[in-house]
Amino acid sequence: TPAPQWLPAWETTDSLARVATLFERTFGASTDGTFSAPGRVNLIGEHTDYNGGLALPIALEHRTYVAVRLREDSLVRLVSAQGEGVWEADLDAVAPGAVSGWGSYLVGVAWALRQDGFTVPGFEAAVDSCVPFGAGLSSSAALEASLAVGLDTLLGLGLGGDDDGRSRLAAACVRAENEIAGAATGGMDQAASLRAQDGHALALDCLDGSVRHEPFAPVDRELLVIDTRAPHSLNDGQYASRRATCDAAAAVLGVPTLRHWLDAATDAAAAVASADALLDDDVARRRVRHVLTEIDRTRQAHDALRAGDWDAFGALMDASHASLRDDYEVTVPELDVAVEAARAAGAVGARMTGGGFGGSAIALVPAGTSHEVAHAVAQAFAEHGFTSPAFLTSRAAGPAA
Ligand code: ADP
Ligand code: MG
Repeated sequence: TPAPQWLPAWETTDSLARVATLFERTFGASTDGTFSAPGRVNLIGEHTDYNGGLALPIALEHRTYVAVRLREDSLVRLVSAQGEGVWEADLDAVAPGAVSGWGSYLVGVAWALRQDGFTVPGFEAAVDSCVPFGAGLSSSAALEASLAVGLDTLLGLGLGGDDDGRSRLAAACVRAENEIAGAATGGMDQAASLRAQDGHALALDCLDGSVRHEPFAPVDRELLVIDTRAPHSLNDGQYASRRATCDAAAAVLGVPTLRHWLDAATDAAAAVASADALLDDDVARRRVRHVLTEIDRTRQAHDALRAGDWDAFGALMDASHASLRDDYEVTVPELDVAVEAARAAGAVGARMTGGGFGGSAIALVPAGTSHEVAHAVAQAFAEHGFTSPAFLTSRAAGPAA
């Protein structure tokens, strides 16, 4: 087995300088400012955001860096160290369906802020990132959030200074991704990137958008992130179909969201039983069971986090994975193998994270054993003939700045 590949987080000061240099080389002028925003991993609470549920992400040390210069006209010109050539559009012509490609995530943020009534001119931006693409670690939200804080700062919009303003920036990023980039996203990623706090997990309530910041510094444990490198696509209709099933089930149950159904019941088991009786389709029943039990697990995980009960936290991660595999059916063999191999190598809990269908898994492992667990996972991947995975570790990092 080849040695596991590690994806280290970049150092912030160097990275900001590097992206400023990329800007100057590309656009022949100096930047007005440099900004960055983190990727995220969700500890638990998957496919709950669009159901008014709970999620518990942390911001990663892995960030996307952007250098921005405002223009006097409405032209947008973008370059990425991870892309090719210069992406261009006229901001005045941006509308749903009018643009495509990676630049749509960025131009979409400017478009959404304009829709909110802010005056936003064209701009040039250079991007560089150590958040792996399409790995379920939310490089898309990191990209959006880095520009959102950039425009907020350079235009003096006054949103970045408090959580209310940051949630408005996050909402603009969500609309950019949904409406301009044409990718379905439920809002957890953007909240994590813009509203997390250093050293804390973000306890996000997607029903009212409220957050709590819970210290996250596992004692005697550490978090290993496994990028399975399995092809990941949420744009192929699977994500939309899960959302549609949940929306239809909520309509049958006569509630605005599945969260309302859970909260109206005495407990999760009762909510599942009463939903089962009203839904006539077995697939819908299983999808709903995942959502209801996952929101409940996330609440319990939040309690376990506060109590420092990592064994309980790990058991909830395991149960979350089983539910995503069996009831929600969003795992792939690479995710299941990663989780099983990590557990066999000593993880106290492991689960897929993000939307699924590829992407990443996380494992809570005894402190100091990440390398050993990574070796075991890489070996299991080799035995299955899968593409070699990549690994990273991170503490709970700070938000877009
Ligand atoms: P994830 O958010 O899980 O990484 P997505 O499919 O949601 O995966 O977003 C990945 C897309 O975001 C890429 O295909 C690309 O269009 C865009 N993107 C993210 N980071 C960058 C970057 N540094 N440079 C250019 N495009 C990027
Ligand atoms: Mg994404």
